Amino acid sequence: MRVRLSTLGCRLNEAELAGWSRAFEARGCRISGEGEAADLIVVNTCAVTAEAVRKSRKLLRRLQREHPRARTVVSGCAVSLEQEQLGELGVDLVVPNRDKDRLVPIAQQALALPLMPEAATEPGAAALFARGRQRAFVKIQDGCRYQCSFCITTRARGAERSRSIAEICREIDQLVADGVQEVVLTGVHAAGYGSDSGASLSELLTAVLADTEVARVRLGSVEPWGLPERFWALFENPRLMSHLHLPLQSGADSLLKRMARRCKTAEFARLVETARAAVPNLTITTDLIVGFPGESDAEWAQTLAFVEAIGFGDLHIFSYSPRPGTAAAEMPNQVPAEVKRARGRELHVLARQLKRTWLARQLGSVQSVLIEGSPSGPGNRENQFGYTPGYLSVRVATGGAELNNRIIPVRIEQVLDRPADALDQPADSQLLGRPAEAINPI
Ligand code: SF4
Repeated sequence: MRVRLSTLGCRLNEAELAGWSRAFEARGCRISGEGEAADLIVVNTCAVTAEAVRKSRKLLRRLQREHPRARTVVSGCAVSLEQEQLGELGVDLVVPNRDKDRLVPIAQQALALPLMPEAATEPGAAALFARGRQRAFVKIQDGCRYQCSFCITTRARGAERSRSIAEICREIDQLVADGVQEVVLTGVHAAGYGSDSGASLSELLTAVLADTEVARVRLGSVEPWGLPERFWALFENPRLMSHLHLPLQSGADSLLKRMARRCKTAEFARLVETARAAVPNLTITTDLIVGFPGESDAEWAQTLAFVEAIGFGDLHIFSYSPRPGTAAAEMPNQVPAEVKRARGRELHVLARQLKRTWLARQLGSVQSVLIEGSPSGPGNRENQFGYTPGYLSVRVATGGAELNNRIIPVRIEQVLDRPADALDQPADSQLLGRPAEAINPI
C-alpha cells in the first residue's frame, strides 16, 4: 500500500508524522513523495490560528484532488476543535488527538487496510533524508495544564501525558540505526515531561544521553518555568546542544498578566542569568507576540527594552491574530492592523541587530557542525551548510568534499550579511566557516 503523509504546524506534528511513517513502513507500506501515486492520504492538521485551519482544509482538498481514489485519514488540532467542518470534506476516518499515537493500527482496523508486515523492509529514515532532514523530531509528551489566554493548543491537545523513557530511547535507537545524527525532543509543554508519570525532563535527558548513541540531542521549545533540578548540569555533556528556545511572548508584566503567563520578566531574566552561567556560549531564542489585545505604546516600549536587555540570539515574531475559542479573542482593545505591522517591522529590525551581535561573538571559535546539504542544492559541493550546537546556521567552504550528514569541526571565520532580496526574503545574517581539520573521506 502506498501512503501519502502530510502535516502543517508545529514540530510535534512533524514528529508524529515521522512516527506514523515508520509505523506504516513496518507494516509493509511504501511512503509516497510529492507527485507519487497513493492509496491512502494521512493529514496532520493545525489549528493554532483560524488561518491554520483554513490551510489544513486547503491541503486536504489538494491531496484529495491529486489522489481521487485514495482513502483519507485526518488527525490533529483542527480535528479536535473543528471536527464538523472537516467532516464535510468527505474524509474516511477522523482520529482525534487523544488517539493519534495509535493512528496506524486504528486506521488499519477501521478501514480494513490490506497491510503486509511480512513485506516490510527495515523502516528507515529514508523518508526523513528524502526530505533533506538530518535531524529527527521525537515526541516526548503531549498536552498542557496551563491556560495562556491566547493559546488554543491546550484545548486541542488536552491534559499532559508523557511517553515512557524506554519507548523514547527505543525510537532514538532506531533513528541512530538509520543514520540520524541529531534528535530534537519536542512536546507541547516539554518542561512538564513526566508530570503524569513521576519522571522528569532531567531523568529523560540523562537516559537519552546514557542509553543511546545519538550524536546530538537538541531540545525543542521549552516554556520558561518548571525546569527540573539538575537540568543545567546536563549541559556539561557536549552531546546536549547549547541552544534553548524559551518563549517569552512579551516584555511587559502587565501584558504577561493578561496573557495568563506563568513567567514574568524578573523571573525570565533570572532564568537567563542562571542558564548563561551554567552553559558556555548558550544561544537563547524566543517567541514574541506583537499586538496582543490592549498592548499600549508603553507596554510596547517595555517589550523592546527588555528584549534588547536580554540580548537574544534570535527572535520568532508572531503578529497576534484572535483565535476563536481563546479568552484573548474576546478581550477589548484589539490592536489595529497597521499598528501591529509597524511594531512588527520595529521588532524585526531589533531581531536582526541582536542576531548579528550574537553571530559576531562566534568569530574565531571552532564548533562542531552537522552538515545538512548544499545551499544551492545537490551538485554544488563547494559550499555546504549545517548548524552549530547553538543552532546557528553556518555556510562551510568544503572545497568539493561530500560531507552530508557528517559532524565536523568548523572554524568560524566571518558573518555573511544577506540583504533583503527580490523574493521579499528579509535581510539576514549567517556564519561562514572552513573545516578546522583535514577532511578524511569516508
Ligand atoms: S504553556 Fe504553552 S501550550 Fe500551554 S497554554 Fe501556554 S502557550 Fe499554550
